[in-house]
Amino acid sequence: MYIVQIASECAPVIKAGGLGDVVYGLSRELEMQGNSVEIILPMYDCMRYDHIWGIHDAYKDLWVPWYGGKIHCSVYCGWVHGRLCFFIEPHSGDNFFHRGCYYGCDDDNMRFAFFSKAAMEFLLQSNKRPDVIHCHDWQTGLIPVMLYEIYKYHGMDRQRICFTIHNFKHQGMGGAEILQATNLNRAEYYFQYHKLRDNFNPFTLNFMKGGIVYSNAVTTVSPHHAWEAHYSDVGCGLSHTLDIYQDKFSGILNGIDYDFWNPESDRYIPHPFNKDTLEDKIKSKKALRDRLLLQDVDKPIIAYIGRLDNQKGVHLVHHAIYYALDKQAQFVLLGSATESGINAHFRHEKNFLNDNPDCHLELGFNEELSHLIYAGADMIIVPSNYEPCGLTQMIGFKYGTVPIVRGVGGLVNTVFDRDYDTSKPPEKRNGYVFYDTDFHAIEFAMDRAIGLWYYSLEEFRQLAIQGMEYDYSWNHPAAEYLKIYELIRA
Ligand code: ADP
Repeated sequence: MYIVQIASECAPVIKAGGLGDVVYGLSRELEMQGNSVEIILPMYDCMRYDHIWGIHDAYKDLWVPWYGGKIHCSVYCGWVHGRLCFFIEPHSGDNFFHRGCYYGCDDDNMRFAFFSKAAMEFLLQSNKRPDVIHCHDWQTGLIPVMLYEIYKYHGMDRQRICFTIHNFKHQGMGGAEILQATNLNRAEYYFQYHKLRDNFNPFTLNFMKGGIVYSNAVTTVSPHHAWEAHYSDVGCGLSHTLDIYQDKFSGILNGIDYDFWNPESDRYIPHPFNKDTLEDKIKSKKALRDRLLLQDVDKPIIAYIGRLDNQKGVHLVHHAIYYALDKQAQFVLLGSATESGINAHFRHEKNFLNDNPDCHLELGFNEELSHLIYAGADMIIVPSNYEPCGLTQMIGFKYGTVPIVRGVGGLVNTVFDRDYDTSKPPEKRNGYVFYDTDFHAIEFAMDRAIGLWYYSLEEFRQLAIQGMEYDYSWNHPAAEYLKIYELIRA
């Protein structure tokens, strides 16, 4: 099958979070299962050009209709660790992708509306006719709309669309100007409730809703999150739309790319290990302490890796730092915040804890360091308010790092409490789960994890091994996506 992925991220060249990992990992596995996959991305100034091999111009003169005129674009092509990627670069005064950041600009809706339009024009003008176009998140929500309202009438009538929602919180909003810019026009038509009108704001168009309404299949990134989005406020106002389209909506758990996340071959850790040589994990723990200037003592290391955002339960992350220190554990945090208040808060904490030999807060994005932390830590904490899938607990498993998580979204589908899970026998349990958002709940889970480490290290190791035995590779999820692709083609 010929599949084109269209997204705003693809790891490691463009990665702000899990979306990038998913686009890369899924594409790779789909190819390994015999399909032809291409990826279309924006050409950001700040992406990691060092991860692109053989970049060359693939299509010099792409003219993209925009408002009444046209914007001249170039399309570059190169391989990102074996994946064929096309990067769209517009030449216009708007400088859509020359902002020194991927997201967070006031005109993000226009930037990605343009990207969506340009991606469709590229497919059209370069005569690419994939069997399936797979779009990701709100940034590409207008693509299904454009396919069925415009491009279908220009020879793209056989293409089918799968739309995957990685985070319901960010939906992409805009007014009639979006329609004018993308040549969708006909405001009265698109502002209808059963088209793109936001469910709660009658004067706003909702990109993500457009993606749901127009796509042939809609997925989110875990079965439990699909249920939450449909039946609770986690759908951020789109529950009713999901209810209308429930027949084409499902949840597929993300996978992990075990070529990239693998302690047996990870070039960022000092010594390889696997479940049979778990004792060698201690070498990564020591390297992590050396690197972050933590004292080398007989204590467990608890880690947090992730965006510092309200979604991630930052009040609990903050509490976990001090609780861990109080309970004779060390704490390592690697995270970046886009919101200035949260950023200032953690900067303050970093200064305050600067001289503490048991704690290190690293504020920023650092792929290499993240590998060493996964390998060197004993436990990883994921106290999210909501979590569509969550990759850090799954990466943690692979590195023998026991997760302590809040039981929401994909964390419910992947982590099974050592002491209380009733769905799995004891030998299949792999971590610690708490549910409430108060301090008592997280403390109780941390107490159990730290307690087991101190009082029965052998049993703690056994728990880590049980996590390592789970297969969270892309193998199975890619097969699930292929089933959906086959279904919508038929
Ligand atoms: P989300 O997509 O909501 O950000 P996920 O758990 O799905 O969260 O994916 C997070 C991914 O981003 C993981 O691969 C994690 O290792 C990585 N990551 C998050 N923050 C950082 C950071 N500050 N430095 C390096 N990697 C990070």
